[in-house]
Amino acid sequence: MKTETKCPICNGKKEQGKVTFTVDLGTNLIVIRDTPATVCSLCGEQWISDKVAENIEAVVREAKMKNRMIEVVNFSLENVA
Ligand SMILES: [Zn+2]
Repeated sequence: MKTETKCPICNGKKEQGKVTFTVDLGTNLIVIRDTPATVCSLCGEQWISDKVAENIEAVVREAKMKNRMIEVVNFSLENVA
């Protein structure tokens, strides 16, 4: 995995890090902490891998079923079915 590439938006340095990913569904708000992501150190743009995106989708589906107004979870790859 490349850890140092240029940001396509501002040409800043992209770094591996962890972000708090928020999904606003209108009626529900899902907050996923410690989500692995590539973050631009200059403009703060975030990129997530397909694997991480799949995991987020799984978390969102689960939260929808629970029908909680606010769901705060820690990111875990174990959530991927
Ligand atoms: Zn940038």
